[in-house]
This record gives sequence, structure tokens and C-alpha cells, in this order.
Amino acid sequence: MAFRSVRDEASNIIDFEWLLSNPAACDLVGRLLPDLIGKRLLEEMPGNKTDGLFAAYIQVVETGETFQGQFHYCHEDLDTWFETVAVKLGDGFVVTFRDITPIKQAERQQQQLNQELAASVKALQQRNRQMVLLGEMSDFLQVCATLDEAYQALATLITPLFADSVGGVFILNSSRDRIEAVATWGSPLGTELDFSPQNCWALRRGRLHQVGSSCLGLRCHHAAVASNTTLCLPLLAQGEILGLFYLSAPDIPKPTQQLARTVAEQVALALANLILRETLQHQSIRDPLTGLYNRRYLEEVLAQEIQRAQRHGHTMGVIMLDIDHFKRFNDTYGHEAGDRVLQAVGQLLRDSVRGSDLACRYGGEEMTLVLPESPPEITLERAETIRQAIGHLQVNVDGQVLEAISASFGVASFPSHGTTGADLLKVADAALYQAKAQGRNRVVVAPLLPQHGPDQKVAAAPDICQTQDIS
Ligand code: GH3
Ligand code: MG
Ligand code: MG
Repeated sequence: MAFRSVRDEASNIIDFEWLLSNPAACDLVGRLLPDLIGKRLLEEMPGNKTDGLFAAYIQVVETGETFQGQFHYCHEDLDTWFETVAVKLGDGFVVTFRDITPIKQAERQQQQLNQELAASVKALQQRNRQMVLLGEMSDFLQVCATLDEAYQALATLITPLFADSVGGVFILNSSRDRIEAVATWGSPLGTELDFSPQNCWALRRGRLHQVGSSCLGLRCHHAAVASNTTLCLPLLAQGEILGLFYLSAPDIPKPTQQLARTVAEQVALALANLILRETLQHQSIRDPLTGLYNRRYLEEVLAQEIQRAQRHGHTMGVIMLDIDHFKRFNDTYGHEAGDRVLQAVGQLLRDSVRGSDLACRYGGEEMTLVLPESPPEITLERAETIRQAIGHLQVNVDGQVLEAISASFGVASFPSHGTTGADLLKVADAALYQAKAQGRNRVVVAPLLPQHGPDQKVAAAPDICQTQDIS
């Protein structure tokens, strides 16, 4: 197309007049030649002014410099990308233009594709990072030897997987009436840490329960009313509910929900394994009736404790006790009542020893206590205290208070009475036999070995010592 300047009195260009247009140019602007020739540019196509093209053309005419550029013309029924070259010609200009809309559209599509690609690469990278973290988490959980160890590691392992979230892992207690947090991350958590399983929809329905801030009516009772979204997911192992995985964040999108499912599955599996392992371990070393350690475990630990005492030059006490006339008790009240008494004595022994001590059921109604680092006189004192406590035990069966029981005690100490577990147990048992022979319900300290006379440093126990109720 070619144009001639239209100037005002001050010689400023106020518009351009069409001089000519070839058929292709007419097609591009969608006009017939007679509709253009002699007409003014701004009157026919005012979009030229708004887009700054008019100013560019003035510049061409006034300076003689060529204008070259691409622009998107979106006025007067046109929606086209043009590539333009305008050159001064007399007091006007010639402009050639080309429709580059398809190129621009392809470019835009390409850009969009690039953006989508970048987004999916980013998502893949994030997924990859999550997989690495998940792998690390399950590796760690698998090598944890105890549940406590796993509980301690959980928060540190899970936190990097859920940015901007707070949460926790909860475990059902053995009576299945409370659920307690064993690991939490972030604050404020927005949930109680110890609650009834009835207060959680996920636990009641056995499936994921997610609530946004707009559905407060369906929020679990254990979760505080807050603006966050909360997610509760039951921890399931072999179809049994083990606990709860809880997450709270401003928003929990689908991929995070899916990740939470995977994490909960792995955590449940690892914890179920550890619980099973601890149960088996517990069963293999505990007596099921009294909860006391069994004899096999006693013998194993006694050997270790003797070695330790030897290394550190410590003394150690061994107490053996046997319930008096227990056969008669069984005959009077029945075997079940006898079991209840054994349980009560077991509980009493567990309550009266320190963490490092060992209370075992040696067999039948005979129990053994091992007291590491206990000097002979303290061991004797402890035996006496327990003897009195057994005398005060009250056991109820079917609303009936059973007759009081008593027990006889034999006390031995390392190293004054022996330097092997078998010797110590034998000596303590002999002292217990003495206590029975002397009338029961008393504590007898074993006689000292000949090489441990009163002049020897470790031998603090008297030759024979007895205690007995005055009553
Ligand atoms: P002593 O004072 O001489 O120790 O007399 P005792 O009757 O306690 O001793 P004895 O060895 O004659 O009998 C032990 C009784 O302990 C016999 C047995 O029925 C009872 N007993 C052993 N184990 C259990 C148990 O697990 N439950 C119950 N109920 N009784 C048990
Ligand atoms: Mg007995
Ligand atoms: Mg016995």
C-alpha cells in the first residue's frame, strides 16, 4: 500500500490518504480497492492510532528511516499478526505487510507446550525426590529394632515429604479404647494428642477422611475448628486398624493425598512388623500369667549381669521366694483364685523393683529377683520389704477377699555366695529351703562361703540372718 501525508496548517501530519493497494494487501485488510483509494487511514482503520502504528509511519515520513516490525492488529474485524516494512516515498510512505498469524500461533503453541513440559518435568522431579525420601523412610523403619526407635525417627523421616503441613502418627492402645500420638511434626497441630477412636470419622469408617475449611460439620471431634484442611487416614495392617495418620495444611491436593496414602501404608507395615516382633520377643521372655520374665531369660541375663558385676567390681543380690502353703490355698479357693494370687504377687514384684532389676517367675509359685549393684545388706532389706508387702496383699475373687498369704525368702549375693548364676541360684534356693524349715514367712540369708570370711572386703552379709514377722 502507498499513502500520502495529510497535513494541517502547521504542517503536522494528521492522517494519511490511500494512494494504492495491491490485491493481496486488499485481501489482508478485508477491503475492496474502491473502498480504500482516496480514503483516510485513521478514518477507515482507527486501530492504527491506538496501536502506535500511526506514530511509527509519521516517524518514517519525517525522518526517512525505515520502520520494520511485527504487530498484532486486533481492530475493525481483523485479528491478525503482521510483519511490516514501511519506507518513505515522497511526502508519504510505502508499506508492505505479510500475514504471520500461523507462525505466531505455532510459536504460542510451542510456548504453551514448553510451559507444560517444564511443569511436568518439575512434577517428575518432585515425584522422584518423594520416591527417594519414601525409600529412605522405609529403609530406616525396617532397620529399627524397637517401636520406640521407630517412633523417634518417624517425624524426621516424614517431615520433608509434606512441606507446609503439620501432622502426626497415632497408635491405638492394646485395649483399643484410646489413640495416642507417637510422632508429630509442625505446630500448631490442630488435634488432640490422646483421644477416643470414636472421635475420628476415619477410624470409625475405616477409610480416608478429608475435610476442607468449608465443611466444618464433618470435621472429626479430635481436630480443632481451624481454617486448615485436615486429612485422617487409618493405619491398616492385615485389615486391622493399627492407628492413624493425620495431616493438616491450608490445602491438601490430590497428589498429596495419594502420597499420604503411600506413606501411611509403609508406616503401617513397618510398625505392624515391629509390634509383631516385640510381641514375639515379649512372649518368648515373659511368663504369660504374671508378666514376669521366665526362667530361660533369667538364666541368660544373670550370666550377663555377673560378667558386668565382675568387670566393674560391683556386688549383686539374688532373692528367691516361694509362696507358703500354696497347695492348700489352691485346694481351698480353687486354681483360678490361685492364679489371681500369682498375678497379684507378680504385679507387686514388678512394682517393687527398679528398672535395672529383674523379676522372674522361676516356676510354679517360686519367683526370683536379681538386683544388680545391690550390696548384701540392701538385698536383705529389699527381701524383707517385699515379704511384708506380700503379707498385706489383698486379693478379691468374686467379691470375696481371700485369706492373706505369706512367702519364704532365700537371699544370696555375688560374689560372696558364688560367682556363677547356677551357684547363686542354688545357694539362694538352699537359704529358701532353710526359711521353710524354720517355719516359713521369713527371710534367710545364705551362709558365707569359707573363702569369704568376715575379714574379706566384699563379704558384708552376716553368717546367717533371719527376719520374721513378730505377729
Ligand atoms: P510350701 O510352703 O512348702 O511351699 O508349700 P506349697 O503348698 O506352696 O508347696 P508345694 O510345692 O507342695 O505346692 C505348690 C503348689 O503351687 C502346687 C501347685 O498347684 C501350685 N501352683 C504351681 N503353679 C501354679 C499356677 O500356675 N497356678 C496355680 N493356681 N497354682 C500353681
Ligand atoms: Mg510353696
Ligand atoms: Mg514351690
